[in-house]
Amino acid sequence: MGEMSEPKNSDDREKRMHEGRERLKQTMGRIKHKIAVISGKGGVGKSTVTANLGLALAWHGYEVGILDADLHGPCIPKLLGMRGYGLQMGPPGAFPAIGPLRMKVVSMDFLLTDEAPLIWRGPLKMKAIEQFLSDIVWGSLDFLLVDLPPGTGDEALSVMQLIPEMGGVIIVTIPSEVSQIVVKKAVKFARLMKVPIIGVAENMSGFVCPKCGEETDIFKAGGGRKIAEDMAIPFLGSIPLDPRVCEDSDKGTPFIVAHAETPAAKAFMEMVKQVEAFLNLAKPQAERVPSEGVAGKGE
Ligand code: ADP
Repeated sequence: MGEMSEPKNSDDREKRMHEGRERLKQTMGRIKHKIAVISGKGGVGKSTVTANLGLALAWHGYEVGILDADLHGPCIPKLLGMRGYGLQMGPPGAFPAIGPLRMKVVSMDFLLTDEAPLIWRGPLKMKAIEQFLSDIVWGSLDFLLVDLPPGTGDEALSVMQLIPEMGGVIIVTIPSEVSQIVVKKAVKFARLMKVPIIGVAENMSGFVCPKCGEETDIFKAGGGRKIAEDMAIPFLGSIPLDPRVCEDSDKGTPFIVAHAETPAAKAFMEMVKQVEAFLNLAKPQAERVPSEGVAGKGE
């Protein structure tokens, strides 16, 4: 990461800011599609959707990066079995850690110890996110998924302002009524920021008992589709609750690969098609082979 000492005078500050903007432009210019994943509230599975959509895109042959921009509660490394990984420092900047399916991953979790809470005010968070976007050696990527903290606070604002050519946002919700209310705020936020909305994904949409096969709509179902219709935005699909989502992330196994036949995995694969259609993408050359599905620590 670049160093954060204060420049001596306003000319220095101006010069630094200009250099910073140029670096950001260059780094982001090598990434074809930047997508932010947001939610109105926490615990709806936003990070789970980011991680698994990233895996599904990588599985389809795309070069994928994930920026965990949840500075206070980073959990992408946990979901990808990458706890304890670090960023390698080199002369051009810091290199992302390499995760399952060769995804490039950056998270505050790689820089903090378990017990250290992050206590930062807005401007410092903005600076950290700017550095994550510009001083990380992302290289050329097809997709950068940015996992934002829940709500519409500093981090979300920073990312939207720093990446003006954002390809779009994906809004994650669960079917409960309280989620429906906050999802409208997320939609309005994206509209205010003039960022295209790729669509709404409904997570935790029903549960199929693995023992008896009975289907239970724990948080009701269909709320995501309804809100998408009400707000005239695409619906990206329903992802059911599946305990294997959790188990696989604990093991560091990509769920969509290990349990490709499950409705949840299929929903993530389907989401790839929707994203491709939204961005008018042609299919990449090749899909990955299963042996690449293991995270390579220290690569
Ligand atoms: P958020 O990012 O919205 O705060 P997370 O992605 O961290 O939410 O998910 C919260 C918890 O719910 C995690 O433990 C995750 O493993 C679990 N979870 C999310 N989606 C599913 C799902 N479809 N099936 C089973 N568990 C899920």
